[in-house]
Amino acid sequence: MGNYICSQGQSQEHEQDVSLRVNSREAYAVSADRDPELWKKQMNADRDSQPRDVTGSRGTSVTTGTPKFVGSFGKLRGFVRKCLEDSVIDESYFQELKTALDDLGTHGGKGHERDRMRHITVMSSALFTDSSEQEVADGMGLMDMHIPKPPLRKKLSLNEGSFIIENEGVTEFSALLIDENFNCRTRGLMIQMDVQAVVYAFSTPYNLVGRYNIDTAILENWVTALSVRYKDNPYHNWMHAFDVFQFLHMALARGGAGEYFNFQDILAILCGAIGHDVGHAGTNNAFLVNTGHKLAVTYNDRSPLENMHAACCFETLKAEGNNFLEILTTKDFMNFRMKVIENILATDMYHHFELVDKFHERVSHSTDSPFVKDTKHCRDLQKETKEDRHFLMQAFTHMGDLCHCTRSWDIHAVLVTCLEEEFFSQGDREKAAGLTISPMMNRSKDSAAAGQTFFLDKLVTPMLDPFCTFLNEGLPELLTHNLTNNRDKWAELVKKHGKLPAKELVPLGLLDIE
Ligand SMILES: [Zn+2]
Repeated sequence: MGNYICSQGQSQEHEQDVSLRVNSREAYAVSADRDPELWKKQMNADRDSQPRDVTGSRGTSVTTGTPKFVGSFGKLRGFVRKCLEDSVIDESYFQELKTALDDLGTHGGKGHERDRMRHITVMSSALFTDSSEQEVADGMGLMDMHIPKPPLRKKLSLNEGSFIIENEGVTEFSALLIDENFNCRTRGLMIQMDVQAVVYAFSTPYNLVGRYNIDTAILENWVTALSVRYKDNPYHNWMHAFDVFQFLHMALARGGAGEYFNFQDILAILCGAIGHDVGHAGTNNAFLVNTGHKLAVTYNDRSPLENMHAACCFETLKAEGNNFLEILTTKDFMNFRMKVIENILATDMYHHFELVDKFHERVSHSTDSPFVKDTKHCRDLQKETKEDRHFLMQAFTHMGDLCHCTRSWDIHAVLVTCLEEEFFSQGDREKAAGLTISPMMNRSKDSAAAGQTFFLDKLVTPMLDPFCTFLNEGLPELLTHNLTNNRDKWAELVKKHGKLPAKELVPLGLLDIE
């Protein structure tokens, strides 16, 4: 599709920020506060109709049909004013658009500034389609503008990250989402509050809501649908999903790791995080494979759980009333979808060592070949960094899945106890079915605590170390300290009390302190 503001050229990945999406006709098809079906019909009709030239013909109404703008960039301001006069846009919208256009006119010269202003213009307008970047840059080309009535939008500022959801809990959510002492076990009591906190993370600080024209009510529907499909397992439940989501949001927003990703990456990381264990039945892949479970058959024994989680994410998204990304172009959606699937599949521990090795290898070369930051507004950089960004998304998601190891002892210890109980429950099922009980899952002799020192040292630390190189604001020290402390605590407890199950050791540890 041609594009007024930001002609991105051809790319396999076809990653585009909001410019194209907001720009595309599909963007109007489903917009906030409007009937999607009605808009689809209107847009289809618009495609078939001949655009009308309204330039200079002030008597022509632009409130019906599909007006077409043909003229120089300089005349665009006049056209926008006409839209105001004809009530296609309101006064505040006009001012917003006018400011952006003025800025574009002033700064519309070269380099990043130009890109930025183009971006802002599209953010503020959501009006233009089907013209070329060069025409705008030159300020003298012809532009075709099909102008449906602009979508009613929620409160949106031109400044990044300033999208505010009208919600009393905003301050709390903001603090919660970057809280290093976040305790997921306090969640799940009021799912609706959790859902709103998750939705809030899509608005701040990256303003994904504004960038992708997301209807937060629809996003809320999707997250709620996911939360409902999380089962009441001891560990793999909604609270764990929230834990991983919060951890990754904290790493991106507070730790500064968001610099390494473009906006679609961040969208994919957040969506993948909240959906990465949806539908988990409390048994692992080996159990599914060994029992010939339907999921193992469906996915040919390859990451049956993770495949199911990813499928469930998109099933729920496609359900009526949940698809907050319906406005994306097909290419963009497929691109986003691929990222989410890759991220979720990367949480299969089966691939852990391979992923850790690759992570170490890549980070060890970062002096010669640094990971590139600030790719968000540069198409070429996005293309160049595609491989790195995709891998980083997967590594981040996998690290997020292990985040309980980096929480403070009180939180971590409880979560290990929960995980242990889930393991034991699987062991019970294996025993009842006459199967060999899996390692670590025999409640009469195993202990998750006994394996924690090894697990933290040999599996999690090698993942956390390279991960921390992408963080700042004291987070690396904090996470590393917590992990080391947790390791020492387990070692100390096991040494003092023996290889008791975590659920027995942890209370004994509390008594030790007293
Ligand atoms: Zn998980």
